[in-house]
Amino acid sequence: MALMGQMMSAPLLISSIIKHAARYYGSTEIVSRRTEGDLHRYTYRDCELRARKLAQALGALGVQQGERVGTLAWNGYRHLEIYYGVSGMGAVCHTVNPRLFPEQIAYIVNHAEDGYVFFDLTFLPLVEGVAPHCPNVRGWVAMTDRAHMPAESKVPLLCYEELLDAQDGNYEWPQFDENLASSLCYTSGTTGNPKGALYSHRSTVLHSYASAMPDALGCSASDVILPVVPMFHVNAWGLPYSVPLVGAKLVLPGPKLDGASLYELFEQEKVTFSAGVPTVWLGLLQHVQANQLKFSTFRRTVIGGSAAPPAMIRALEALDVEVIHAWGMTEMSPLGTASKLLAKHHDLPDAERHKIQEKQGRVIYGVDMKIVDGEGKELPWDGKAFGDLLVRGPWIIDRYFRNDVSPLVDGWFPTGDVATIDADGFMQITDRSKDVIKSGGEWISSIDIENVAAAHPAVHMAACISAYHPKWDERPLLVVVKKPGAEVSREELLQFFEGKVAKWWIPDDVAFVTEIPLTATGKMQKLRLREQFKDYKLPTA
Ligand code: AMP
Repeated sequence: MALMGQMMSAPLLISSIIKHAARYYGSTEIVSRRTEGDLHRYTYRDCELRARKLAQALGALGVQQGERVGTLAWNGYRHLEIYYGVSGMGAVCHTVNPRLFPEQIAYIVNHAEDGYVFFDLTFLPLVEGVAPHCPNVRGWVAMTDRAHMPAESKVPLLCYEELLDAQDGNYEWPQFDENLASSLCYTSGTTGNPKGALYSHRSTVLHSYASAMPDALGCSASDVILPVVPMFHVNAWGLPYSVPLVGAKLVLPGPKLDGASLYELFEQEKVTFSAGVPTVWLGLLQHVQANQLKFSTFRRTVIGGSAAPPAMIRALEALDVEVIHAWGMTEMSPLGTASKLLAKHHDLPDAERHKIQEKQGRVIYGVDMKIVDGEGKELPWDGKAFGDLLVRGPWIIDRYFRNDVSPLVDGWFPTGDVATIDADGFMQITDRSKDVIKSGGEWISSIDIENVAAAHPAVHMAACISAYHPKWDERPLLVVVKKPGAEVSREELLQFFEGKVAKWWIPDDVAFVTEIPLTATGKMQKLRLREQFKDYKLPTA
């Protein structure tokens, strides 16, 4: 007969995280730069009380368990209260990316069937444009106090602070099945309509536990953590959960994400650890280097969302900041791998150690991965064979929201990324399968080309895309934004590749531009670039 374990059964609920932070790290600070312009500080104890008031207010508005509540908001304390108040009372916190086109936002709000949408004042014009197309939203809530409410608005608005003021906070977080939905994020939908990844309380709590571990993000109560990655980009990579879980001080930068504003906040609040996409670090690095600044306390950062160029990893290292290169996706909550060294790597010469840190890294417990060839046959872990990367695990998507077609292949989720895995399990992304350059049937990694270009002192940003070639089908074209005041010619740049990549990988041409379009999550928008250069005539063609 089966013998059951005899331990207490406690559901893994998101409310337990903020309850824990309030009870055991009650006086630890949360500091936010507000859209109103000033810095706001309070503690985990204050945050939990206000999240309870919000849960009461949502009940008073008639929000039901399982109902979706949208947000259009920056990283700030009110957004954090919504994360906990909404999920904690059993509704679903649906973060919407305000950088998407208004039509996409309306599509997402309607597809999710959001009952209410909370928004930061910055986004009032967006709300006024979108609201007429979202007839099922019962109320739009401005995340501010009465004094800052807009004098007039085309849409009837509710006031966040008034909703909270009407409640006493006398509220017990409800207990329910840990498999219930907790939050919802849509993919950015570079092709076709965005698709929703619906997380559960269980998946979120497990992901928070695992991602806080030393070989993942390594968060601790002795850290001061500033997520630059927006709370609308896969829940800021889970940091709004894992930071309170470990009881670290949390710093939320609001709408000011330029290098100077970030640097000031890093220094003032003694930030030790941060996370963001490569384009954010470009801005911060530029500011720090141009003004010959140093970081007093900032020592580690996670870079992910797109490949961290080796030159960026080295530049941060020169400022005493360790880079943890991480990989994941919306469908994975998002963390899959992180690149932390093994004990045997510590004595390696710098160059070899760097090669390992540049990879996207090893899986964290809970994630299983494999690479397969075109026929689905598993490929060896030799660091050379590359194929489609598949993953599975308890915080990886099973199905998209309101979509009956399973995306899985034999129980595995195909990531759309192409990768190698070495004998120690370090995975390296070769490319997004749509971005790889197929030259005469052979593949060229656009990421490798971009990494070389990014190391050139005159290059601010570089994207490598395929351009049509009559003989080879596709050949690499390098699109470059120069650093302000820097000069470099096409020939000099192409020469820079000699000896760094195989000869046939060297791009056929360089196009200098003033700007590379970015996606709503700050990644280089290669699809747009390919459209922009679709009639480009290579000199080799
Ligand atoms: P998103 O769901 O918007 O976060 O996008 C996920 C995709 O971003 C992945 O499938 C990868 O193609 C890409 N990505 C994320 N992290 C990295 C990384 N460290 N290096 C290269 N690509 C990455």
